[in-house]
Amino acid sequence: MWTGKGLKRFINSSIRAVETRAMKNYLLNLDQKSLQTIREIGEEAERKKRSAYIVGGVVRDIILKRKNLDLDIVVIANAIGLARDLAKKWNGKVTTYKEFGTASLETSEGFRIDFATARRECYAHSGALPHVQPGNLSEDLLRRDFTMNAMAIAINPDCFGQLIDGLGSLTDLQKGVIKVLYDQSFMDDPTRILRAVRFEQRFSFKMEERTLSLLKAALQKKAFLNVKPPRYFDEFKNILHEEDPIKCLKRLHQLGGLGFLNPRFKAHLQDLNLLHQRIQETRKHLFYRQKDWWLIYFMGLMANADCRVVDRVLTKFSFTKNERVGIQQSLKANEVIKKLSVRQLRPSQVYQALRYLTGEMILYLRVMTSTRIVHRRIDQFLIHSRYVKLYINGEALKQMGIVSGSSMGKILEDILCLKIDGKISTRQEELRAASACLGKFSGSIC
Ligand code: ATP
Repeated sequence: MWTGKGLKRFINSSIRAVETRAMKNYLLNLDQKSLQTIREIGEEAERKKRSAYIVGGVVRDIILKRKNLDLDIVVIANAIGLARDLAKKWNGKVTTYKEFGTASLETSEGFRIDFATARRECYAHSGALPHVQPGNLSEDLLRRDFTMNAMAIAINPDCFGQLIDGLGSLTDLQKGVIKVLYDQSFMDDPTRILRAVRFEQRFSFKMEERTLSLLKAALQKKAFLNVKPPRYFDEFKNILHEEDPIKCLKRLHQLGGLGFLNPRFKAHLQDLNLLHQRIQETRKHLFYRQKDWWLIYFMGLMANADCRVVDRVLTKFSFTKNERVGIQQSLKANEVIKKLSVRQLRPSQVYQALRYLTGEMILYLRVMTSTRIVHRRIDQFLIHSRYVKLYINGEALKQMGIVSGSSMGKILEDILCLKIDGKISTRQEELRAASACLGKFSGSIC
């Protein structure tokens, strides 16, 4: 394991080596468009007499030949200025974050590039947000989570495409080893526990022995309690966004890492295998392809939890109102599925069972069951019934002599149900149906 000064010296010597040695160009694998964009960033940096580098996970993915839609650029001093100049040149849009020395540039083609001024970081205590100061490239690489994410590729014209690896990162990456940069790493930033598990499972890598014991020690000390819950949960959400979150959840569970949700939370991960399988199948349908599934996995994770535990989880971590409502509804998923499974059911009855459920809860129901008829009913609701609207409204009913109030709402709902069931379709038919309803609600008629 490297320590402070030795590590810095090693990285600095590697950076100098870039200037003196002819090395492999690591960017040649990229498509022409990305290559051209990166060249232009490097040329603009050169004009401004600055050094610019591609850094972090993007470098890892370039070496692994994996698609990565991000482009993270570190600039030695004033990244914001460089991003602004490029935005002008490309007619792009730039958003700056002065306090962090970062900028995000969106090109006119919708491609996003993040620029950051090289920085060094130190932690006042475990779990605190780091104290940030401008720094050099070696310091910027040293602040990173794992060796495999701590490489840079130079993009200035004279050293374009050359890899900067002062930590043996390339070897670790090739061997499939996840290694922290220093012993205190997981304690300084416990979100790295989740990142380690995520990368280990995503790439089928192995944690280096010492890294694994440091991770276990951090979990034993409940280091996650030092991090603000929403921040820790954001990193957890990244796990649920993975192609196969179940692998990560199982590993995390095996390491005792799910306790951050609640000390009394008991995971029943075997049920999630089936959920995952069904999500994969559902995703193949065009209609469900673009959906975001993290919340569905989370609903599955909470499915067997005690409702008091779920309540605490909902209070502790930050969810949007819609997410919170969806999670609460998901605890009753079996009841709704039962309702949707009965033999004879009109589309309007399906509509009534689903109309107040959140979109994610409905998706959750869709993957909770393999019953075809339930799938068909949910699909019909999502594709058709929920969009059915009436031509008439309360005004039309008033003109027919019905005062506003609950009866008016009930009449409109009954007419809507008739329309969903295909019994009526035109405005005339809606008005006729309204008159027919009048008798039922004679108490409210003027
Ligand atoms: P992904 O493919 O999931 O996006 P990534 O490695 O690109 O993975 P990001 O969260 O986009 O992950 O972070 C970009 C880079 O920033 C990382 O590769 C790493 O170098 C650094 N980084 C991110 N989070 C941390 C952290 N908690 N501690 C240290 N470095 C971090």
